Amino acid sequence: MSKRIKNKNINVTKTFLPPFYEYDSLIQKIWKNEWLTNRGDLLKELEKKLKKHLKVSNIIVMTNGTLPIQIALKFFGNNGEIITTPFSYVATTSSIVWENCTPVFVDIHPEYLTIDETKIEAAITPKTTAILATHVYGNPCNVDVIEKIAKKHHLKVIYDAAHGFGVTFKNQSIFNYGDVSTCSFHATKLFHTGEGGAIFCKGDDLYKEFFYRHNFGHNGPLNFHGVGINAKISELQAAMGLAVLPHIDFIIQERKKVVDYYNSHLNFSRLTKLKIREHTNWNYSYYPVIFENEEKLLEVESQLNKNNIFPRRYFNPALNTLPYINFIPMPIAESISKRIICLPLYVGLTTENLKFIIHIINKQL
Ligand SMILES: *Cc1c(COP(=O)(O)O)cnc(C)c1O
Repeated sequence: MSKRIKNKNINVTKTFLPPFYEYDSLIQKIWKNEWLTNRGDLLKELEKKLKKHLKVSNIIVMTNGTLPIQIALKFFGNNGEIITTPFSYVATTSSIVWENCTPVFVDIHPEYLTIDETKIEAAITPKTTAILATHVYGNPCNVDVIEKIAKKHHLKVIYDAAHGFGVTFKNQSIFNYGDVSTCSFHATKLFHTGEGGAIFCKGDDLYKEFFYRHNFGHNGPLNFHGVGINAKISELQAAMGLAVLPHIDFIIQERKKVVDYYNSHLNFSRLTKLKIREHTNWNYSYYPVIFENEEKLLEVESQLNKNNIFPRRYFNPALNTLPYINFIPMPIAESISKRIICLPLYVGLTTENLKFIIHIINKQL
């Protein structure tokens, strides 16, 4: 037990890199085509393959996972109030503020950690235009109830599904729920293009609208459909996606092994793990654990750090406490944010290192 980890840091994640020759052969295509961006062959191939792999009816691959949220909010937000979760990455809230809308927080469910759908209706006002909720750690929100509430009050539903790659709920891609879903293909995410992301939406009209908007509003070289932004992804990034995608089943399998190992060896008498919603086929994207109090978390974190192990406090602080937000208490999200940490989880994390991490945590509990 507790063999030294030879000067190498163990971080919360490690980007999966495909064999170099596989990436190289795709990069050679770019040289042959002499075409670097503006929807080249590699991007078109990536979108086709992702559509098939995810079983979604449409996808626009973009340059990150934040712009699709902003594009959706620009279209649906109308400078109104957006009901949202305080427990997510900062991009969920900052996008609302950036688009001149007002975030209205609704606290989270204490076990699923997604927005508490039973508290949404009380937060709706005549100014509410949309709900922006996060499938945090790839754990689906209560999409059925949220859909009912949205229909009743004529609200749009946007899901920040940055963590949702490969997740299915009731045998459907999680990206098929809501009016719009967004994903991130950042290097720290399950499937990646270095930097990248995507938008998924209901119906052809919405797809066309978002398609124009992600490319300056261009409708042909000289015509403009409306106002737009540049959210295009380059061929260099598309090549990375094409190189990673064939390995995605392996990536998920390997991560499942790590998750299973944590599940069977951590001492859960004083730790809580994430509860995955029923009817979910999860993607093993994160391994959060919740401590009894923040002091305990800090003690364990400091012991791990001393041994070159760097978990991350995803997600802290709670977003209702951001300095540019009018603070309203969200007791559950604030409490969870202080006590939750994501443990290392990636392809290639050895059993020896896992044992070492678990030993340090269990000893400290
Ligand atoms: C990573 C992330 C984003 C932003 O994605 P980028 O690709 O980094 O722009 C948005 N929301 C959540 C919940 C995320 O984790």
